[in-house]
Amino acid sequence: MKTQIPTPDAHQDMREALRDLCGRFDSAYWQKVDTERGYPEAFVDALTEAGWLAAMIPTEYGGSGLGLTEASVVMEEINFSGGNAGSCHGQMYNMGTLLRHGSPAQKQQYLPGIASGKLRLQTMAVTQPTTGTDTTQLKTTAVRKGDRYVVNGQKVWISRIQHSDLMNMVNHETNEVFFDNLEIPAENLVGQEGQGFRYILDGLNAERTLIAAECIGDAYWFVDRARRYASDRVVFNRPIGQNQGVAFPIADSYIETEAANLMRFKACALFDASQPCGGEANMAKYLAAKASWEAANVCLQTHGGFGFAHEYDVERKFRETRLYQVAPISTNLIYSYVAEHLLGLPRSF
Ligand SMILES: Cc1cc2nc3c(=O)[nH]c(=O)nc-3n(C[C@H](O)[C@H](O)[C@H](O)COP(=O)(O)OP(=O)(O)OC[C@H]3O[C@@H](n4cnc5c(N)ncnc54)[C@H](O)[C@@H]3O)c2cc1C
Repeated sequence: MKTQIPTPDAHQDMREALRDLCGRFDSAYWQKVDTERGYPEAFVDALTEAGWLAAMIPTEYGGSGLGLTEASVVMEEINFSGGNAGSCHGQMYNMGTLLRHGSPAQKQQYLPGIASGKLRLQTMAVTQPTTGTDTTQLKTTAVRKGDRYVVNGQKVWISRIQHSDLMNMVNHETNEVFFDNLEIPAENLVGQEGQGFRYILDGLNAERTLIAAECIGDAYWFVDRARRYASDRVVFNRPIGQNQGVAFPIADSYIETEAANLMRFKACALFDASQPCGGEANMAKYLAAKASWEAANVCLQTHGGFGFAHEYDVERKFRETRLYQVAPISTNLIYSYVAEHLLGLPRSF
């Protein structure tokens, strides 16, 4: 039997459809985007037209009404194909704030456009230069003046803003953003004034779990590339994978990836059942980002000097997956969350 990575599961039909689509965007496509520091416009358009980015939007607004589990499979398959879902994942989950806290009129006004891709809601601007991880100290303000909110402040590292039509408060083109008396109609307020940060926190479990799934896709890609190269590359008259020093780290990466995948699906299942999933979403992001980073290291090492050759994609994917140790939440902050919220230890900051 031919070994399949990842192991076939209940989402096989969906995976096949995504593999067909992603297969149209080959390694040369992603290398060009990377070299030009460009945006994968054609890929994002194709994904949008096929409806995948509207997976979590209810059918009454033109989406597919699927759960986080299915949405996470979309992200995983993009990264497993050798692509980078970081270019468009915001379109999938940023609308959650509007869906959960927006008025019926706001949902009717924006969600169908977001579902069709006519409107891109790809950006979430939280990080500020002087406050960093300490998001309780945000300095940007929105002050009501008559029928408008006037926004002042500064944001940094803001992804995909040049590929968004709508902007909410929180791209890998990233941007520094300055708000200087930006006026927003008061009717655009989502939910209640003063609750915005809490609404954003509500959406973070979905973001963390979807990014965990991207890391799982990356990790399987690295394991698959490493085992194929280790089988084909012959040095000292034998495939390098016959050496345990080469094979064992690949096996180790596979084990770590499979384990992280269990936590990812646990977080998805809890989220889809509307159960609390903060711990599982954070742990899934931690385990998956660690598994993908370790698999990246092993894959590069297995390829020897060729790991650094642009046309093998290994060094590109290596750079891409490293990001997830830092953003959207750094490893230390996950340790802090687990220590405080799951283990009852005193808060350290
Ligand atoms: C490519 C990219 C895309 C991004 N996209 C977005 C986006 O779309 N929207 C957005 O809002 N932000 C975005 N970010 C920002 C990202 O979320 C932050 O960089 C990240 O949260 C860390 O904040 P910081 O860079 O200010 O680091 P700092 O807060 O300065 O922290 C630096 C280091 O110190 C550690 N540290 C700080 N305080 C503590 C503590 N109390 N205990 C232990 N360790 C601590 C951190 O874990 C980190 O390792 C992006 C960043 C990058 C690089």
